[in-house]
Amino acid sequence: MKAARYYGPGDIKVEQIAEPEARAGQVKVKIAWNGICGSDLHAYLAQITKFPTLTEPNDLSGETLPITLGHEFSGTIVGIGDGVEGKFKLGQNVVIEPVVSCRKPECYSCSHGATNVCPSTNFIGIGGWGGGLSEYIAVDANLVHILPENVSLEIGAMIEPLAVAWHAMKRGNFQDGQSALILGAGPIGLFLLTILRAFGPTSTIVVSEPAQIRRNLASKHGATLVLDPLNPNNPVDAAVLKATNGVGVDVAFDATGVQAAVDTALLSVRPHGTFVNIAIWEQRPSLDMNLVVFREITVTGSAVYRGHHPELLEAVASGKLHGLDDLITRKIALENVVDQGFKALINEKDKQSIHYIQEVDYRSGVLTDWAVPLRDLATSKYEATLAFDPLNPVKSIVAALMKATKGVGIDIAFDIQAAVDPALMNVRPHDTNLRYEFGRLVRDYGFGQCCVLTSDSDHVGLLEAVAAGKLQGLEDVVDKGIKALINKKDKQLEIMQY
Ligand SMILES: [Zn+2]
Ligand SMILES: [Zn+2]
Repeated sequence: MKAARYYGPGDIKVEQIAEPEARAGQVKVKIAWNGICGSDLHAYLAQITKFPTLTEPNDLSGETLPITLGHEFSGTIVGIGDGVEGKFKLGQNVVIEPVVSCRKPECYSCSHGATNVCPSTNFIGIGGWGGGLSEYIAVDANLVHILPENVSLEIGAMIEPLAVAWHAMKRGNFQDGQSALILGAGPIGLFLLTILRAFGPTSTIVVSEPAQIRRNLASKHGATLVLDPLNPNNPVDAAVLKATNGVGVDVAFDATGVQAAVDTALLSVRPHGTFVNIAIWEQRPSLDMNLVVFREITVTGSAVYRGHHPELLEAVASGKLHGLDDLITRKIALENVVDQGFKALINEKDKQSIHYIQEVDYRSGVLTDWAVPLRDLATSKYEATLAFDPLNPVKSIVAALMKATKGVGIDIAFDIQAAVDPALMNVRPHDTNLRYEFGRLVRDYGFGQCCVLTSDSDHVGLLEAVAAGKLQGLEDVVDKGIKALINKKDKQLEIMQY
């Protein structure tokens, strides 16, 4: 059968593998649809921890890479193993709850039914066990839920991320009539909005989201008020207070993993309100504990889900959740998953949200690159003030640079990989010294598009600078940068200097 197999960052191959058969206690499912999730995209760009590596197996599955990707999927039962209880029948449509935990009696979380917070928690399609981006899978029957007859297989593939949002609603103890603030209208934020609206038809629900296309979706999916956090004339916390008669919302949910969003959330929650963090953070955020103390705000986290599938499926079947169909961006065939799925999603700028960075000096060097080792090198060795990933869904070069330059924009933007739009948006306006230049390849090592860019792209000037010893550490660019890049099949190198 065909399967999309993950070999490491930048390396997904659709290839033929053996078809699995249902062992005792398992059912075999012919997969219908599988959603591509932010964590899949992240894994395409960088090694992330829940995946095994080529040499280190996952502690629960015992598998090393390659693994078959996909954890948000639906399908039809085509085989039933020995000892599976009678509720399953051939031809039945099902969804899979892909969470796998250690289930050891000595594990506090697993022995208390909290499998989502077991230290070993992992997923089908991430830690191993097959995945949804293939034709068939054999899974333990206790992870299989029957899809109600009036729910399509397409919607079935959305049940997994919907369950993430459902769990967040529960963690926030949201009730009808309460008010809520959702920070970030990516897939989880929009699913959460849909669910909160279903359970709170009269509730005030405010959404804060920098991307216009997502704000439009939020308006369509029942937000009372949709705000752009980058609009300096209408700060989110002030607008939330206004919308709640000066009181603040009952619950604020952060689905961004961005410092400014947490700050806004804590300022927007009413006394004795609740702040729910759904986001996974790359860096440790800071919390204004005095806001938490003086208003006795409950701060909590929401990780994945546990045991919500039956009630969620019932809510979907009863038609309570509206507009799920238009949250499907496109449908593609398995053999096109890399180009039309992963690469297309990564390149869609509107799918990105915002990463704020701390204040930095006005004149600063910034590097953006997909490749983690190169970004590390840029800050540790080449004195980039900031180095960040333009493709990470929680980061945006535009917002980050505007923030870093106090809303003014940087003096000069250099583009060497056709990132023209963000570069133009970052340049400050109305300045006679403003220059916008495409970078030129000034040093080509013969390894594709790797290059070093300086503010002066004149070769003579560059060679003079090299001769004068002005450019430090070029050897490291080759050794740690370019060679590492080739070995990891990672992305381009660019260095900006002023
Ligand atoms: Zn996911
Ligand atoms: Zn456990």
